[in-house]
Amino acid sequence: MTCPICSKPTDKSYRPFCSKRCADADLGNWIKGNYSIPSSNLEDMPESSSKDAPRFPQRH
Ligand SMILES: [Zn+2]
Repeated sequence: MTCPICSKPTDKSYRPFCSKRCADADLGNWIKGNYSIPSSNLEDMPESSSKDAPRFPQRH
C-alpha cells in the first residue's frame, strides 16, 4: 500500500499515509472541499429567511 498523497510506502502510524505531513495535507484537502458546501448554502439562507420571517417588521 502506498501513500495517496505522495505514493511513498505508508507508515502504520499514519495509515493510509506515509507521514503526518501527508495526513495533514489530505485533511486540508478534505476541509477545503467541505467549505464549498456551506458557503453555497449561505447564499440561499439570507434570501429565504428574510422572505419567510422578516427580522425587523417594525422598520416600516
Ligand atoms: Zn506521503
